[in-house]
Amino acid sequence: MEPLTTMRIQASFDCNICTQGSIKCNPLRHIQSEIQSEPGLRNAVRMAIPLGKNQFDLAVEFATVIQVGEYFTDLSRWRLMSCDPLFTAELGRSYQETAFSALTQMRYQYNMAASLIQVSGDPRLANWFKSEIVRIEGLLEQYR
Ligand SMILES: [Zn+2]
Repeated sequence: MEPLTTMRIQASFDCNICTQGSIKCNPLRHIQSEIQSEPGLRNAVRMAIPLGKNQFDLAVEFATVIQVGEYFTDLSRWRLMSCDPLFTAELGRSYQETAFSALTQMRYQYNMAASLIQVSGDPRLANWFKSEIVRIEGLLEQYR
């Protein structure tokens, strides 16, 4: 079985809860309703993590990545790179501080999402969470 691919998208779903990056709404619902008209994409996106600033990380079936990217603004190539849009220095904050706080928030959102669902029932999703959280924690060490 192919591992799940991670994408970063930007999209506004006309949902205040998701726009704020809160975990009180499950953005996967909005994402699925955007893409479900295409039969091949019905089960393409397995998980959506709200990150604020209208950005979301997605766990996506590898074969559908290009198609899914056509529905949203695809920021995947910059995700967790030094030019990650979430790392852009904010007013009164250095790049280092912004990146560190974005990563801290990201780790929190991933851990929350992982705890809210029955990850154990889906080994691919469990592996996806594990490897993404390890990657985020490695970067947190770098920006500390
Ligand atoms: Zn929402």
